[in-house]
Amino acid sequence: MPLFGPPNIAQLEAKRDAQGLIKALAHKDASIRMAAAEALAPLRDPLAVEPLVVLLKDQDSGVRRAAVDALAARGGFRVVDPLVAAMDDRDPAIQLAAATAVYRRLLTDPDADTRRATASELGRIHAAGAVQPLIKAVMDSDEGVRAAIVKALQAIGDEEAVLPLIVVLAREQARVKSTGRSSQLVERAAAQALDALCDARAIGKLQEALAHDNADVREIAVRRLARLNSPEVADALAGTLNDNDPAIRRAAARGLKEMGWKPPTDETGARYWAALREWRRCGECGPAAIPLLVASFDHVDPLERADIVAALVQLQWEPPENDAMAAHFWAAQRRWDKCLEIGAPAVEALDFVLHTSPKWRDRIAAAGALAALGQTRPAPCARLDLVQQALDLLEGEGDAETRRASLEAFLAEHRQFNRRASEEVAWCDCGYPAARIRKDGLQELMSDLLAFEKSSGNVTTYYCPSCSTRRASLAV
Ligand SMILES: [Zn+2]
Repeated sequence: MPLFGPPNIAQLEAKRDAQGLIKALAHKDASIRMAAAEALAPLRDPLAVEPLVVLLKDQDSGVRRAAVDALAARGGFRVVDPLVAAMDDRDPAIQLAAATAVYRRLLTDPDADTRRATASELGRIHAAGAVQPLIKAVMDSDEGVRAAIVKALQAIGDEEAVLPLIVVLAREQARVKSTGRSSQLVERAAAQALDALCDARAIGKLQEALAHDNADVREIAVRRLARLNSPEVADALAGTLNDNDPAIRRAAARGLKEMGWKPPTDETGARYWAALREWRRCGECGPAAIPLLVASFDHVDPLERADIVAALVQLQWEPPENDAMAAHFWAAQRRWDKCLEIGAPAVEALDFVLHTSPKWRDRIAAAGALAALGQTRPAPCARLDLVQQALDLLEGEGDAETRRASLEAFLAEHRQFNRRASEEVAWCDCGYPAARIRKDGLQELMSDLLAFEKSSGNVTTYYCPSCSTRRASLAV
């Protein structure tokens, strides 16, 4: 072997002489440098990394290409920066080779630190061409890598990343729902990236996301769109008012409301008000509101039910079946006869009136209907039978004087006052009996005939069952 000849690369390669090949990387002859770099590739020697990185600045493009390939074959954390830098080589073929190597590292390197560093570097240099590989890699199993990829996509700033980022965010949020844990690192990064990317240019991508299969994705898209005030956005949001997920309908309606959108008085308007659970406004949108009102009835609280019924009454709707909803409908209109026809399914509606109606007359009527259906309840009065009869007499035939006379006779008959002992009846302004006035002038509450309610501190408050006037509060 000659002492001072060019190194025999084939021989060094055959002997797997990494040291000799590394030395040859510095040879003055470009073809030797290139051959040495090529021969080093399969050896993956850690000591070769630094000298190969030096060759990325070689004058000869063949040498640079061989260095890229050798570093790509080597892999690992240390080759990330040099390979990313080589994506900026003046030779397009080397750019491509370096980019291909980098993206392969990003997607397949077994070392998470390498994948993370690759993503960060791509973000740092704003590698526009890296958007698709980054999107492809964004579901990486390592949360540090996912966060780095998300940040890189934010840095590059291409709205192509909007939908994938929404999917990432939805996935992290779903993880919180199912396991109580999520990667806050990734969630926060994704939210920040979307903050940065979701401007007017992203409207098209956000609209695409509205058609996504996953409801969480659609909901995020709706919320993001709602922050962009434009007529185009309003149309898109109005289109999601019939989404099959109530959370999305609500998010769309709230977004439209914040934008100051004026709902039309048609089906779209009805959907808008239904999503906001403003049932009376919903009803004002005409017959298109009916199915929405009916469908919502079972899913809302009793106060909202009352609004739904009121809206349906306004729309002249009539219940097609004798079910619980029909009972609420008729009870709201004080059609106790209809409630009785419905029977058992009406009990809930009658109980609702009994416990919540601001009018004692309705509570008494509901208690009466419940009793007729065989349902015993703590009555809203001591003598339901007497109160019902007295109310009937008060509304009976004849003038005020005649009705008062029949009431007096009725009260005397039921020993509520004693005419012979010179007692008299004190009347409520509405004409209903309230108290008996004894001969000595003292008044006694006619408590059997009044409605009452116990409140805190053992106080019982009595009301006129006809006009709901408070008559007295007595401590027991
Ligand atoms: Zn009264």
